[in-house]
Amino acid sequence: MTEMPGRRLLLVHAHPDDESINNGATMAKYAAEGAQVTLVTCTLGEEGEVIPDELAHLAPDREDLLGPHRIGELAAAMKELGVTDHRFLGGPGRFRDSGMMGAPQNEREGAFWSTDLDEAAAHLVAVIRETRPQVLIAYDPDGGYGHPDHIQAHRVAMRAADLAAETAFRRDLGEPHTIAKVYWNRVPRTVVEERFRWLAGVLDATPFDVAAVVDDVPGVVDDERITAAVDGRPYVERKAAAMRAHATQVDVPEAGAVFALSNGLAQPLFDIEYYELVRGEPGSPYEKDLFEGLEGVTER
Ligand SMILES: [Zn+2]
Repeated sequence: MTEMPGRRLLLVHAHPDDESINNGATMAKYAAEGAQVTLVTCTLGEEGEVIPDELAHLAPDREDLLGPHRIGELAAAMKELGVTDHRFLGGPGRFRDSGMMGAPQNEREGAFWSTDLDEAAAHLVAVIRETRPQVLIAYDPDGGYGHPDHIQAHRVAMRAADLAAETAFRRDLGEPHTIAKVYWNRVPRTVVEERFRWLAGVLDATPFDVAAVVDDVPGVVDDERITAAVDGRPYVERKAAAMRAHATQVDVPEAGAVFALSNGLAQPLFDIEYYELVRGEPGSPYEKDLFEGLEGVTER
């Protein structure tokens, strides 16, 4: 077995772009510090809405080529973040974007939402047993905002974390591994409210006419739920560049800490990323490092 970096982080996301928007600064920071950062993306995001007019032909109701295009966007984003290990669950195109909740695509053959949970989780078990992360970042049970692929990504991540540790489960997928700490992506309500107040004041200086609202931000919870904050300020330019690489999905102007999705509503771009520890022991009451408190975990 080749020697692994001391700190190993795994992130599970639903679509290309979710990782950069939610965790771009965290990923860039740990990658720069020499940690092993592994991203597993569950679908190609085939059902996304396309922002640039010149790429509108890729849309699912036209050429249906958004998936392959977004593989390239994700690769470009990972280059910006310095992350070399990014994979699609079960391989590219194994599970398809399910569209918004209630859409007919939810039930389509191969849609991630209608996939058997344990079958999907087994693909992730193989990754966990290979990369042996101490820390997993996933969505909350609502997937942050109720998108079926995000809910399913949560279920698959949590189920795979259980199964990977089970000695009797699928020994052909590698040696059992227990993930020490599991975090959910979160944003503290007062921080979001403050950032939207700031945004209202600078909106005229952005290319956007209207701002989103607090409820448009996934994973917002009362501040007391937050157990960790990763200060990504030194990496915010990389995060912005990674988000910009997802050009079909995200509009990130060169200046200012704002962005918009396909609805064109301005949102604050967070340079500090927040988490709730849901499994494992916290290293301190309010962690600044997701590896805090882990025995025998070295910097490199
Ligand atoms: Zn998504």
